[in-house]
Amino acid sequence: MNLIIFGPPGAGKGTQSSFLVKRKKMFQLSTGDLLRNELSSASDLSRKLKEIMDSGKLVSDDIINDLIEKKISDPEIKNNIIFDGFPRNIDQAKSLDKMLYKYKQKISKVINLEVDYSILIKRISGRVSCSICKKPFNEYFDPPGKDTYCTSKECFRRELVKRSDDNENTVTSRLKTYDEQTLPILKYYRYKGIVKDVDAMKSINEVTDQISGIISDI
Ligand code: AMP
Repeated sequence: MNLIIFGPPGAGKGTQSSFLVKRKKMFQLSTGDLLRNELSSASDLSRKLKEIMDSGKLVSDDIINDLIEKKISDPEIKNNIIFDGFPRNIDQAKSLDKMLYKYKQKISKVINLEVDYSILIKRISGRVSCSICKKPFNEYFDPPGKDTYCTSKECFRRELVKRSDDNENTVTSRLKTYDEQTLPILKYYRYKGIVKDVDAMKSINEVTDQISGIISDI
């Protein structure tokens, strides 16, 4: 089973994907994470990528499709992928269909996380995560404590880090990009009859339960 976890920035795609990774042993394919890994080198490409990502715009489809094809063609994760943050526009959605066809796979469901935009800005601008285990915290909703360290057992007192694009200015631009380029893809998938809407304003556990219910039917 391959799934797309869909929704605006801050809807909880990464958090809910971690649940699928832990409980269903699925492979999380986050294009945002793949791109952030590329940023660690000091190349021209990485400087260019950082500029685009910090502006809230989309990186070129060629770069993204290349990253994706390397993963889809990997037999180790075949038919067990959660696409997180991809596709982000209609051309990427069509390329994904072609690639999946080529490697004899398909998308079973698109899980659409619905959240009011009014709360997204606070969710994103307050977002911090553990530098080691990636556990997410929020400075507004669940402050980790007066010191900024991870509270999980495995990496107790590890530093929390903030993404450079998680600030109010970039968030507004990311939401605009989402509205103009990403949201229209839903129509494409609704036409295929594979979209399942989820109320992502509920607690993390309640959202997880809704998703569990959806995938238990597949
Ligand atoms: P994310 O971690 O998914 O919020 O992505 C962070 C940033 O990476 C986005 O604002 C884009 O600049 C870039 N990015 C991630 N995924 C894609 C994609 N599928 N297509 C184009 N750009 C992307």
